[in-house]
Amino acid sequence: MNKPVILIVEDDISVRNLMVTTLKTHDYRYLVAENGAEAILEASSHNPDVVFLDLGLPDMDGIEVIRKIRSWSNMPIIVISARSEDMDKIEALDAGADDYLTKPFSVEELLARLRVTVRRLSLMNSHTEQSSATYINGALKIDYSAGCAFLDGKELKLTPIEYKLLCILAKNTGKVLTHTYITQSIYGRCWENDIASLRVFMVTLRKKLKASSDSPQYIQTHIGIGYRMMKVE
Ligand code: CA
Repeated sequence: MNKPVILIVEDDISVRNLMVTTLKTHDYRYLVAENGAEAILEASSHNPDVVFLDLGLPDMDGIEVIRKIRSWSNMPIIVISARSEDMDKIEALDAGADDYLTKPFSVEELLARLRVTVRRLSLMNSHTEQSSATYINGALKIDYSAGCAFLDGKELKLTPIEYKLLCILAKNTGKVLTHTYITQSIYGRCWENDIASLRVFMVTLRKKLKASSDSPQYIQTHIGIGYRMMKVE
């Protein structure tokens, strides 16, 4: 894959400059937009590989930009918001954003989020080519047609809900999924009780995915927000 093109949408000049400098230093190609209207125009005319989107824009709500882009494209969107705006992040993720970055962020965080997203992108591209009947991530394998999962070649003894949970996370590898999204997918609803039981299922699923103490962590927790399946090397 060529160096991806990143669209930076940010009205704050100092944050924007930091992002531009970081991407330049690391040899990424980039485009810049200072407001929502420019963002939509740049996204539609240049089809960037990844979008960094500030949620607080002068002309429109960042969520609106996500909805517009999602009406024609699955390009990964990483939202940027202040620490106090957890609800905005959740709304953005539910509107179709892939990940988030909290202000103030470090250059390392920015690059780490970008790496996860670029990996997700190449995974999405390879999936459209090969058959999607099986999922492989490190030592984890899911055979969708048989309805079972394996770790290091050994079948995992999962309850139906744990299996469902694993499939939802696997199908969205690299993407942060909110509690609401996951419980909606599993139960078709989202009650407080469902989120509490989701936590319990997640603990048992995690244990089963950890064959030994040096096994990689497949599922990442985002406190107050949700979970993400990581691509393991
Ligand atoms: Ca802003």
